[in-house]
Amino acid sequence: MQLTFTEKHTPHVGLCIDVNKHLYTAQSAFQRIDVLESPEFGRILVLDGILMLTEKDEFIYHEMIVHVPMAVHPAAKRVLVIGGGDGGAVRELCKYDAVERIDLVEIDAQVVEVCREYLPAVSQSFSDPRVNVRYEDGLKYVRRCSDLYDIIVVDSTDPFGPGEGLFTKEFYGNCFKALKEDGILVNQHENPFYPDDAAAVRRIHKQIVLSFPLSRLYQAHIPTYPSGHWLFGFSSKKYHPVQHLDADRWNALNIKTRYYNTNLHKAAFALPTYVEELIKGVE
Ligand code: SAM
Repeated sequence: MQLTFTEKHTPHVGLCIDVNKHLYTAQSAFQRIDVLESPEFGRILVLDGILMLTEKDEFIYHEMIVHVPMAVHPAAKRVLVIGGGDGGAVRELCKYDAVERIDLVEIDAQVVEVCREYLPAVSQSFSDPRVNVRYEDGLKYVRRCSDLYDIIVVDSTDPFGPGEGLFTKEFYGNCFKALKEDGILVNQHENPFYPDDAAAVRRIHKQIVLSFPLSRLYQAHIPTYPSGHWLFGFSSKKYHPVQHLDADRWNALNIKTRYYNTNLHKAAFALPTYVEELIKGVE
C-alpha cells in the first residue's frame, strides 16, 4: 500500500508526495506537527497539514530569506528571527563570522524539539553560542524592542493560525521600532499566482508599506510551495536591495550556498508584470 501526503493549494489543485514513513505526529499547544519520510524530498515538516519544508528544497527558501538582507546590510551584527523553529534561517545566519547575536523567537517549543530530532541538517546551528532561543509570540516580543536589531527575519507560518498576527500593521510598525536606524526587515510573503494567495500578497504588502519608507518584493522558485513561485518582502529604513548590494564584499566572504548568488540577487527583484500589477496600487 502506497502512503501519500496531499496538500491542497486551491480547492481544485494539490501537491501529492509519496511517503515511506510517518515518523512523527502530535498536537502541540499551537498546531499539529508531523514529520514524514519521502523517497523524492527526504524528510518533510508539516504544520497543521501544510508543508513547511523538505530536506531536498529547504535550502532555497532559507538561503533567499537570509543572504539577500545580509548581502545588502554592510555590518549586520544582531539579528532577530521570528518563527523559524526548524533552524534553517539560523543555520544560514551562523555562516557569517561578523554576526554576534541571533535571537530566535518561536512560539512553539515542540517544533524546535522535533526539528532537532528529525531534521538535524536543518536545525544544526541551535547549539551555536551566538543563538538565543525564546519561546513566545513574536508579535508580543517585538512590542518590547526598540533600536535593537540590524536585521529582522520573519520566517513564519501562513497568515492564519498562530502566524496571523505576524502579518499586521501593528507587527510591522513594532518591527520598524525594533530595528536600528539602518535596519532591514525580510519576511516570507506567500505566492502571487493563486487568487486567494495573491490577495494575501497584496494585503501583506499594504500593511508593510505603511511602516517602511522602502519595501520591495523578490522571488524564488520553491518546488514544494504553492505554484512554485514564492515571494519574499524586503523592507528597509535606508538601503535599497539592489543599489546597495555590495556583491564584491559578499563574494569575498566565500559563503557556501547552493541557490543564492549575487547575480541572482539582482534578478530576484525583477518581478513578472502580473506581480507588478498586483501590488501597483498598494505602494
Ligand atoms: N522555515 C520554514 C520554511 O522553510 O518555510 C517554515 C517556517 S517555520 C517552521 C514557521 C514557524 O513559525 C513555526 O515553527 C511556527 O510555530 C512559528 N510561528 C507561527 N506563529 C508564530 C508567532 N506568532 N510567533 C513566533 N513564532 C510563530
